Amino acid sequence: MDVEEFRKRGKEMVDYVADYLENIRERRPFPTVTPGYLRELIPDSAPEDPESWDDIFADIERVIMPGVTHWDSPQFHSFFPTANSYPAIIADILSDGIGNIGFTWASSPACTELEVVVLDWLGKMLDLPPAFLFSSGGKGGGVIQGTASEATLVTLLSARTQFLHKHNKSGDGHHDDGAVMSKLVAYCSAQAHSSVERAGLIGAVTMKKLETDEKGALRGTTLQQAIEKDRAAGLIPFYLCATLGTTLSCAFDNVLECGPVCEKEGIWMHIDAAYAGSAFICPEFRPLLNGVKYAMSFNFNPHKWMKVNFDCSALWVQDSSLISDAFNVDPLYLKHENQGKMPDYRHWQIPLGRRFRSLKLWFVIRAYGLKGLQEYIRKDVQLAHDFEKLVVADDRFEIFGEVVMGLVCFRLKGPNDVNEKLLKAVNDDGRINIVPSSVKGTYFLRLAICGSKTNNNDINFAWKVISEVTSKLLQENAC
Ligand code: PLP
Repeated sequence: MDVEEFRKRGKEMVDYVADYLENIRERRPFPTVTPGYLRELIPDSAPEDPESWDDIFADIERVIMPGVTHWDSPQFHSFFPTANSYPAIIADILSDGIGNIGFTWASSPACTELEVVVLDWLGKMLDLPPAFLFSSGGKGGGVIQGTASEATLVTLLSARTQFLHKHNKSGDGHHDDGAVMSKLVAYCSAQAHSSVERAGLIGAVTMKKLETDEKGALRGTTLQQAIEKDRAAGLIPFYLCATLGTTLSCAFDNVLECGPVCEKEGIWMHIDAAYAGSAFICPEFRPLLNGVKYAMSFNFNPHKWMKVNFDCSALWVQDSSLISDAFNVDPLYLKHENQGKMPDYRHWQIPLGRRFRSLKLWFVIRAYGLKGLQEYIRKDVQLAHDFEKLVVADDRFEIFGEVVMGLVCFRLKGPNDVNEKLLKAVNDDGRINIVPSSVKGTYFLRLAICGSKTNNNDINFAWKVISEVTSKLLQENAC
């Protein structure tokens, strides 16, 4: 492809993407293909000779689209949203064009410097304590990780290293990392995301899931009791991953209670607010983040709910040396003469290479402004409340938990199995897509506001589908 063809085909692709997103309502949100469908549609081996762009382009609709789940569809209500917006897509085109790898300041200074500034912007938008910001002049600062899972893993491994060093220093000079590691215990709530359990597995430490209260929150007393019990058994509690906005039901751990326990006990508190974190840019939701001052690290995904396309997960730490010194290897070819003046982000993450992801955050924040992003969050929360009202008005149904953000958990009154049948029937119908969840043995359905253009008509449509499918199901069950 030469430059003239790139100009032409690039513009065609922009038109294709714009048409795709503007007409996404016309596509079934969840595909009907069966496993192995794609192998039937393309050859077994790569082509020997170049193919024409027309042929390649035509295969998007023929091969790819039949197997695409349309996450930005207003009829897609599963999981949590994954953000989408034109400014972020444009930024990714630029990032791909520049194609730099910003592992150190010297490897592409703009890549590091924009990230430093934009994460301070974002931290201020969230009203994070200054200790998390570069501009405070202390040891704090932010970094973009690919995912919340990586943020949890990086912080857990850093906390683990800190504890190993501490125990080795305080001991008799004999270093037995294996013996200390076998005693390390991390905690999370029973509602924490599976990536937290996985971080424990990868980090080779015990991850204990603690019970939550009736609102799904991990409470300070539960944490305190677990720590005391574990210490009495000779174990070493070292890390808590608290969740603000759980995947199961969007519950909020009580950080104001857990934080002081962690501070007193010398435990690293990490906060995972992967989904709900975006809402903390609105003053009315910011109180849910109170207690963040006790956290050593805080993370949320702008790629979930802040109009920044995947991948962009923002992590802040109060003391970046605990992360950057935790796994420091320093080969000659990565050194540069300005070391120490700006962060070398390779020390803040697991991979070496990193894309220019701050561009999309920068474009989005500027193109919408704080006010535009706040409006966007408020619109989705309002839509969730609109859906909640429809559920409440139908006495066959009940709400599970509390609607705080853009997620509504609901169920048919009665046993789990009828709700399992309802979920299957709704998804088999195909007009909308939802996923189930279960807390303490209660099975329920989750409706998340996902599509960036979801409006009130879409919510009424989702309810119409659920209502129709329910009537049919209950009729069949009665026969
Ligand atoms: N934590 C929470 C609370 C989540 O809801 C999710 C995903 O939905 C994750 C972590 C994992 O996010 P990621 O895919 O960015 O690792």
